[in-house]
Amino acid sequence: MSGQNSWVLKGVRPLGGEPTTLFVDDGVLVDAEPSGAQSFDADGLIALPGLVDLHTHLREPGREDAETVETGTLAAALGGFTAVHAMANTEPVADVAGVVEQVWRLGQDAGHCDVHPVGAVTVGLRGEQLAELGAMAESAARVRVFSDDGKCVHDPMLMRRALEYLRAFDGVIAQHAQDPRLTDGAQMNEGVQSARLGLVG
Ligand SMILES: [Zn+2]
Repeated sequence: MSGQNSWVLKGVRPLGGEPTTLFVDDGVLVDAEPSGAQSFDADGLIALPGLVDLHTHLREPGREDAETVETGTLAAALGGFTAVHAMANTEPVADVAGVVEQVWRLGQDAGHCDVHPVGAVTVGLRGEQLAELGAMAESAARVRVFSDDGKCVHDPMLMRRALEYLRAFDGVIAQHAQDPRLTDGAQMNEGVQSARLGLVG
């Protein structure tokens, strides 16, 4: 069946290639013009594979005043993204299966692009105790990327246990590379300037 989501993209340039005509049938690239396709003058435009954002804040649940899965994924889709990873610093934190499933379902319902919830590495992003990594991986959301977002997993033993645990299901950790003990109360890089200005290095 053709129609609403079937297109003839005229003059579009695949990245690094010459301008050409692309046919889209119900959202999928095909070799021949689908019946009922709409024509689009894509002169000067570049065709890319769907972009994937590894670090977004959809803010839902808890901060719907700032962003929702609906508004965030709509913006993503308009910018060419077909998948986004939603960070775990929601309220409540996405550290259990229930929360990542909720975010994943909201993404399904919105229908703009794939939503992959990122699970917290530690409970409440507090860096003290491992979150339910396995339960999030086995949930409907099938979480594979874990991160404490702007917080860091700064306990090496905890990080080691998390990495060993994730190996069972090919998970990865996205780590904010900073040791909070080095920057506690810090205002700028330590050096001549910080001494001159009297700011904490
Ligand atoms: Zn972030």
